[in-house]
Amino acid sequence: TKRESMADGSKKKKIPNINFTNLFINGDFVHSISGKTFETIDPSTEEVIAKIAQGNKEDVDLAVKAARQAFDHGSWPRMPGYMRGKIMNKFADLIDENLEELAALETLDAGKVFSFETAVDIPSISKELRYFAGAADKIHGETLKLSSEFQGYTLLEPIGVVGLIIPWNFPSAMFILKCGPALAAGCTMVVKPAEQAPLPALYLAHLAKLAGIPDGVLNVVTGLGHIAGAAVASHMDIDSVSFTGSTEVGRLIMQASATSNLKTVSLELGGKSPLLIFVDADIDQAADLALFGSLANKGEICVCSSRVFVQEGIYDELVKKLVEKAKTWVVGDPFDPSTRQGPQVDKKQYERVLSYIDHGKREGATLLIGGKPWGDKGYYIEPTIFENVADDSLIATDEIFGPVMALMKFKTVEEVIKRANATSYGLAAGIVTNDLNIANRVSRSIRAGIIWINCYHNFDSGCPIGRYKMSGFGKDHGMEALQKYQKTKAVVTPIYNSPW
Ligand code: NAD
Repeated sequence: TKRESMADGSKKKKIPNINFTNLFINGDFVHSISGKTFETIDPSTEEVIAKIAQGNKEDVDLAVKAARQAFDHGSWPRMPGYMRGKIMNKFADLIDENLEELAALETLDAGKVFSFETAVDIPSISKELRYFAGAADKIHGETLKLSSEFQGYTLLEPIGVVGLIIPWNFPSAMFILKCGPALAAGCTMVVKPAEQAPLPALYLAHLAKLAGIPDGVLNVVTGLGHIAGAAVASHMDIDSVSFTGSTEVGRLIMQASATSNLKTVSLELGGKSPLLIFVDADIDQAADLALFGSLANKGEICVCSSRVFVQEGIYDELVKKLVEKAKTWVVGDPFDPSTRQGPQVDKKQYERVLSYIDHGKREGATLLIGGKPWGDKGYYIEPTIFENVADDSLIATDEIFGPVMALMKFKTVEEVIKRANATSYGLAAGIVTNDLNIANRVSRSIRAGIIWINCYHNFDSGCPIGRYKMSGFGKDHGMEALQKYQKTKAVVTPIYNSPW
């Protein structure tokens, strides 16, 4: 089916063609060996979009074999960096040229807002790819003076075959976030997309092939986490795994490395990020940031500001403004240009979020707005705001991954630093203030990988995001992301003939 483009701002939906539903191995789309498939669902209608090839261990083996061959004998790791960059730029051009198609796949498969996809998300992906394309010919080691008899240098080599296990909340962005630096470094790879939203990854594999990425360099095995994902994590011939997903599965990935070949692992995990609004803040701006911070992408963002701390002096005024604005936050068909919030990705997440909302009510927090499913079909949940949330209640400690904000009141700077840090996570934090001293002090004191001052969800390909505590380790974005996909080799040589 093909519905009309929404580029004219009409309310007609754009539904992309579903051309790619098979595994992408060694440059070809192939059925799974078992012939099994799984269904991917449109969360706004609960209808099946397509049956997707279910890759199992044997399929992962084939993909790893192709990637290994391409790494050990192929051109990709050996070609000059600028040539890899050239092909990656072509890949980025193709993403730009097919922006609407890719955006529509994201919206259809994951319930993401189409207007945001076309305006922000997909353009940021090609930008990210170009950033790493530009880095591909700037990979330098160091020269080492060593002693008076010896000198040396270091080579930054691609780490080898990498396994990239990604979540469903940003299907295309997560794909490029991992593949971009891995491709630039000269690695070959097997990507395991999330089973909830596999379509964008398969479409991106098609574009990668069109761009000229050689066969075997980039393979995609769709399948279930505990089967295909687990096969990647425990594979003896994968040199490194980069994983983004839940803290729970992150532990399994590390265990799998420990009990297989000790592959290096980087984990980008969950969060429960605080937004701190100080008494001098502009109320209007603060309310907008709080809403955007916690409700964007229906709360399905690892860095969401799901805990909002507001200083006493402006609390009442801010809450009033927040509720007023939340009432205008449009929930609905993610293809509709006026929509700000689409459905949760699947039934499981939808039920999980609703059960947390129930917890909030039972634990004695006050529901200010929302708290119910929205509409009569699809996995929609109303934007939900709780106040009087106890710091140790489940809705204040657990990652909900839904449109649920927990509001808390605070008195002093010391107090809010302590409370904001009282979490097992450390992904992000936001500060809303015009007081430079407070902004400086608080940003140094919060243990999180990125601090946004008077902004939120501001990502840039050049800005690395790290992680503290149980949010994992490893960097995405920025030149530091390249390091995950490299190994340093030292070469030492005598300056003049030495007896040793
Ligand atoms: P998830 O951990 O359930 O799944 C992530 C990926 O791991 C999927 O591809 C899944 O198929 C795979 N997987 C599942 N079980 C596996 C296993 N036993 N072995 C190997 N792979 C397995 O997470 P999710 O529900 O898809 O995503 C939501 C989570 O991701 C949230 O906790 C969120 O905070 C986190 N996340 C973190 C970041 C970050 O950068 N820190 C970014 C986005 C999402």
